[in-house]
Parts: sequence; C-alpha cells; structure tokens
Amino acid sequence: MVTGASQGIGKACAEALAEAGCSVALGSRNAEKLQAVAAGIESAGGRAMTLSLDVANPQSIDEGVARVIRAWGKIEILVNNAGITRDNLLMRMKAADWDVVLKTNLDGAYHCIRAVLPGMVKQRYGRIINITSVVAQSGNPGQANYIASKAGLLGLTKAIAAEVGSRNITVNAVAPGFIETAMTEKLPEPVKERILSAIPLQRVGKAKDVAYAVRFLASEEAAYITGHCLSVNGGIYMA
Ligand code: NAP
Repeated sequence: MVTGASQGIGKACAEALAEAGCSVALGSRNAEKLQAVAAGIESAGGRAMTLSLDVANPQSIDEGVARVIRAWGKIEILVNNAGITRDNLLMRMKAADWDVVLKTNLDGAYHCIRAVLPGMVKQRYGRIINITSVVAQSGNPGQANYIASKAGLLGLTKAIAAEVGSRNITVNAVAPGFIETAMTEKLPEPVKERILSAIPLQRVGKAKDVAYAVRFLASEEAAYITGHCLSVNGGIYMA
C-alpha cells in the first residue's frame, strides 16, 4: 500500500514495487489520477487497486486498509509517502497551515501505521517505509511546519521499529533531497539553481531514484535493516 500514489514519488514507488511483483494498493484523494496510474501498472502486467483516501481523515484510511485486506487478505508493505508543503516563515505562518501539514504528513503516517500493524503483527511480517526529507536533517528557513512533520516521522520510524522488531516488522525512513516533481516544480528558479549548485552529483533527483531505495528497503535483502534513514539526496547533505 502506497499513499500519495497519484503522482511523483508515490507513483514511482508503486510502479517500482509492481515491477518487483507486488500487488499495489494506490491511495490518495484524486481518484482519476489513481486510475491512470493503476491502468499503467496493469498494462505492464502488474496488479493494482485504487483507494480514494485522505490521510488527514483516519476513517478513510481504515476503510482503505479494510478494502485491501478484504480483496487481497493482507498488507505486507506500507509506504507512507503522502505529503504536502505550506511554506512560510514561522512569523507569517498561519496556524491553519501548521495544522494541515502536521495532520497530513505526520498524523497521516501514524494513522496508516496504526491501521496496518495488527495484520502485520498477526502475520509476523511487515515492511513500513516513511518518506521524510533531507530538510528534517539539515533544517531550512520557511518550512517549520514541514520540517517538524518530517523530523517527527524520523522519530516515529525509530519508535515503532523498536516496538515491532520482535514481530519481524522493519520500519525505515527514506530522506529524499531535491527531487523533480510537482512539489518542487513550484519553487522559484533562483532557489532551484542555488540548490542544484550545492549537489555534489550535479543533478536533481528523479522520483525513480527514491523509488529504488524504497524498493530495496521493502525487499528480503533489507531484512536486517530497521530504524534506519536512507538518504537519497545526491550528497547535498551527508548525515
Ligand atoms: P507531489 O508530486 O506533490 O505528490 C504528493 C502526493 O501526495 C500526491 O500523490 C497527492 O495525491 C498525495 N497527497 C497529498 N495530500 C494527501 C492527502 N491528504 N491524502 C492522501 N494523499 C495526499 O509530491 P512528491 O514530490 O512526489 O512528494 C512525495 C513525498 O516525498 C512527500 O511526502 C514529500 O514531502 C516527500 N519529499 C519530496 C521531495 C521532493 O523534492 N520532491 C523531497 C523530500 C521529500 P492527491 O493530490 O491525489 O491526494
């Protein structure tokens, strides 16, 4: 199950997992876009289902998870990818912008984990991957709400990893740097250029760069990795 799978990094994660043979449940608010992603996966020979859900609404998450379990019997991998920004300097940030970012990026992941964990504990297998961000490690002005949510995800990752390791469930984070998606498209050109000039690998990342890291953490090869944060950032920040 991948949240925020209608575009960008979530779509790439769903496609990469489908390529590896997973049946993928695609969750987000935009049903039409999800259908298009599912159609692409199916036409490539994969299996997909779409879940219209808003991660800021716990009831829609519970309903989505219940649908997957009814259809496919279990959820083995959860990718908490859905995320938004509402950037502004803290002194100008509206409380509503603080709230919606925390509710979506951090509470949303918490509710998804809470919904899938009982099944994972019962089947004694699970892979949970939380998409955080380089800025949770480095800090950045104008993103206090986003960074608080993404740093919260890092803490959540370690806390749950410690709680459920004995049940053969791993919980890890992936911290992308500057990745070419709709989220970064809206940044002003000078900001993009400044970021690019600081990247040792001298290119912006692609959604696929992140998806391959997610797929690795979901794989059998990553069975002994938990509570870890894997950076996919071209070297812009070396944690
Ligand atoms: P994006 O292109 O804006 O995609 C965001 C996805 O999240 C969309 O599929 C959107 O789908 C979904 N989403 C947003 N709010 C949602 C909600 N309330 N409920 C369900 N789904 C919701 O962004 P992206 O760049 O792919 O980012 C994906 C993740 O990577 C985010 O968590 C982001 O913070 C993180 N990240 C991105 C970068 C980067 O440089 N791009 C860097 C570091 C971290 P709907 O609109 O259909 O709901």
